[in-house]
Amino acid sequence: MNDFIDDAKIERILENAKNPDRLHVEEIIDKAGELKGLSPEETAVLLQTEDRDLVEKIWATAKEIKEAIYGNRLVLFAPLYVANHCSNNCLYCGFRKDNKELKRVALNMEQIANEVRILEQEGHKRLLMLCGEHPSRSSLDYFIEAIETAYAIKTDNGGEIRRINVEIAPLSVDDFKRLKATNIGTYVLFQETYHHDTYKTMHPSGPKSDYLWRLTAMDRAQQAGINDVGIGALFGLYDYKFEVLGLLFHALHLDSAFGVGPHTISIPRLEPAMNAPAAIKPPKPVLDDEFKKLVAIIRLAVPYTGMILSTRETTEMRREVFELGISQISAGSRTNPGGYQDDSGEGFRAAQFNLGDTRTLDEVIHDITLKGHIPSFCTACYRLGRTGGDFMELAKPGLIQKFCRTNAIITFKEYLEGYASPSTREAGNLLVDRLVAETEKAGTKRTLKNRLKRIENGERDLYI
Ligand code: SAM
Ligand code: SF4
Repeated sequence: MNDFIDDAKIERILENAKNPDRLHVEEIIDKAGELKGLSPEETAVLLQTEDRDLVEKIWATAKEIKEAIYGNRLVLFAPLYVANHCSNNCLYCGFRKDNKELKRVALNMEQIANEVRILEQEGHKRLLMLCGEHPSRSSLDYFIEAIETAYAIKTDNGGEIRRINVEIAPLSVDDFKRLKATNIGTYVLFQETYHHDTYKTMHPSGPKSDYLWRLTAMDRAQQAGINDVGIGALFGLYDYKFEVLGLLFHALHLDSAFGVGPHTISIPRLEPAMNAPAAIKPPKPVLDDEFKKLVAIIRLAVPYTGMILSTRETTEMRREVFELGISQISAGSRTNPGGYQDDSGEGFRAAQFNLGDTRTLDEVIHDITLKGHIPSFCTACYRLGRTGGDFMELAKPGLIQKFCRTNAIITFKEYLEGYASPSTREAGNLLVDRLVAETEKAGTKRTLKNRLKRIENGERDLYI
C-alpha cells in the first residue's frame, strides 16, 4: 500500500500560500460558504491567513456551515478505557511503556459491566471504547469480550448502550472483520502526526513506530466492511498547518479509494500527562486562537465530516469551538480504566492524560442547553444502516437536518425524563418546547409531538 502523505508536497503547498492576497482569501471563504469543500491549496491559503478580520470571517463562515448542515445539535458520548497496559512508548502518553509509575490496570468483565452501569445511569447511550496496545493484556479477544459485555448491560429506564465506537491500535483486515462482527459503530484512530520525521521521534519503539501500518489502517478497516471511520491528529506535536493538510490528504485518499471520506475528524490537543516528556513540554504548542482557527478551517474544507471534541479542552474553550463546527463531544469523561467506579481520588495514577473539562454529563448538558444547542444521544443512522456512503448521501442534500434534528430532540427528551437533574430538566423542557414550535414542516412537527408524548408515557428508544 502506498504512502499517500508527501511531506515535501505539503510543505510546498504551505510555502506557496504564504502572505495571501485578501481578495483571494475572501473568494475561498465564499466558495466554502457554498458547502463545496476546499482543495488542499485553498485550505493552505486560509491556514496562512493571519489578518484578524479575515480570521473572524473564517469563524463566521464556519458557524454558518455548522448551522446549515448540522443544525445546533451536539451528539454526546463517553470514553470507556478498559486497559492501560501498553507496549509502545509514545513520548506524549501516560500509558507509555517506560512510565513505571503508572498504576497498570486491565478491567475484568465484571468491572467493565460496572463501568457501563454507571454510564447508563448517567444517561449515556454512546461509548468510545479504548485501550493501550498490548499483546496479552489488551488482546483483540479480550477487547471483543469487553464490547459484548458492554452491549449486554441493561439498566432501568431504558438504560443501554446503543453504539460503541472503538479506538484501538491498527488491525489486519481479518481482525477488522472480527471487530466489525461485534457491531461496532465507527472505528477511530489518530495518526497523531502526519509528519514522518516527527512521527519517528515520537514513537521510538513498539509496533506503533510503523508509520505506514497506522496510516493505512482505515483502508484495511474499509476493506473489512467497516465503512464509518474516524481520523485525527494530535495537535502540538508538529506544525498545526501541516497536520490540517495531512488530515485533508487522508480524507481525500479515503474518498477516492472508497467513494466516501472519513465519518469524523478528531482534533485532540496535547494535555499534560505523567512521565510523558512531549506532553509536559509540547514540541509545537497550538495557541487557543490557532486552535479555533484550525477547527473552523476544517469545517470549511470538509463540511460534511463530523468533528469530535473531547474533554481535553477546558470548559471555556469548548464553549467557544462548539459553534465553529463541532458535531460530537464527550462529557463526564475519565481516562483511567475503572475511573467511573473509582472514588478514591487516586485515579490520576492510572490516567492517560489530564482533563480540561471535569464537569458531569448533567452539568455539560445544562450548560449547552442554555446556549441553545440540542444535546443528542441519537444512534438511529447506524442502527438503520445509514452509514458510510449512505450517510453522506443523506447528509449532502440537508436531510441530516430533518432526521437528525428530530431524533436529537427525541433522545434529548429521553434524557430529560430519565436522568436529568431538576434544573436541567426545566431548562431542557423549555428548549424542547421552543424547538417544537420552530419546526416548520407540519408532518415533521406531528411526528415529533407524537414521539415526545410517547417518551413522556414511558416508551424508550424511539427514532425515525
Ligand atoms: N492506544 C491506541 C492508540 O494509540 O491508537 C488507542 C488510543 S489512545 C488510548 C487515545 C489517544 O489519546 C491517542 O491516539 C493519542 O492521540 C491521545 N493522547 C495520548 N496522550 C495524550 C496527551 N498527553 N494529551 C492528549 N491526547 C493524548
Ligand atoms: Fe500506548 Fe496509545 Fe498511549 Fe501510545 S497513545 S502509549 S499506543 S496507549
